[in-house]
Amino acid sequence: MTSKPRPRKKGDQWLVALAWGINVAALIAVVLAAALYFIFYPVSAAPKEIVKKTNYTATMPATYTPNPFALYLPTITPNPFSTLIVAQTPTPFVIENFSTQGRAEIITAGTSVSGRPIEVYAFGNGERQKMIVAGIHGGYEWNTIALADELIQYIFDRPDIIPSDVTLYILRNLNPDGDARDRGVDGRVNDHGADLNRNFPENWASEWNRAGCWRLAETNGGTGPGSEPETQAVMYFLQSHKIETLISYHSAALGVFPGGEPWDADSKKFAKALSKATRYPYPPLETGCVYTGTLADYAVSLGITAVDMELATHENTDFKANLKALDILLNWK
Ligand SMILES: [Zn+2]
Repeated sequence: MTSKPRPRKKGDQWLVALAWGINVAALIAVVLAAALYFIFYPVSAAPKEIVKKTNYTATMPATYTPNPFALYLPTITPNPFSTLIVAQTPTPFVIENFSTQGRAEIITAGTSVSGRPIEVYAFGNGERQKMIVAGIHGGYEWNTIALADELIQYIFDRPDIIPSDVTLYILRNLNPDGDARDRGVDGRVNDHGADLNRNFPENWASEWNRAGCWRLAETNGGTGPGSEPETQAVMYFLQSHKIETLISYHSAALGVFPGGEPWDADSKKFAKALSKATRYPYPPLETGCVYTGTLADYAVSLGITAVDMELATHENTDFKANLKALDILLNWK
């Protein structure tokens, strides 16, 4: 038997083939959508882990011996963020004869993942201790480091602006690896890919909903609360000093964030006063972002009055406005 041409049947076959085609295409689309959803929104799939209040004691040694080989080798755990440092770039900011200034001192608080020093400039020797931290986010927040350097130079030239009962500490660059890597989006994290302002043990979370938050590149909160050497350097410094008041600088534009969850009452007053002087917004602009593991929250947990404060842009240091902020910090009681 030979099959006779049956146009009608052939039409049916095409219809069946078309129906199957649509089915298969729809199936592929569903699978693809599900895959994309889990790739881009893993947060919603995993429950948010908030670490309950625990006392974390930083166990940094009192003196730091930088490993000279750390300057020549990449970090032990290969990761896409590590940079090979061929030669240690000296701190670009140098004040001639700094150590000859009677009331000024440079303290090395620790070292970064890739072995760069984390330096604290100290002025005065009063009992009331105040602190400025800049550059916690490297990258395009580099202008906070530029501001710190301007302030250091300004105070060095006018040591008498430090009240006799005050000691001021300026940590000019908390994320030197990020700053060295890129002064754009890719410089935000440390050489472990961690956002240092999400690595502090207070309200630490392994994951967070990225809605409303910074998400221009991949970041993580560290492998655990206070896991990063830069974070540990600050923890150790705060635990071994009696800081009363602290400003952690960022950029740009969102305003002044009091530390604490909910916001600490003293830090709110401090934020309001800073906002009035600088015209940076308070309350800060609401983006819907939930902030976990911040330096300001950690400082408040130690009894420190603390804020995160954002410069107006990524380009300028707003020096005049921040001289007023410095005056408020130095005299805050
Ligand atoms: Zn920032």
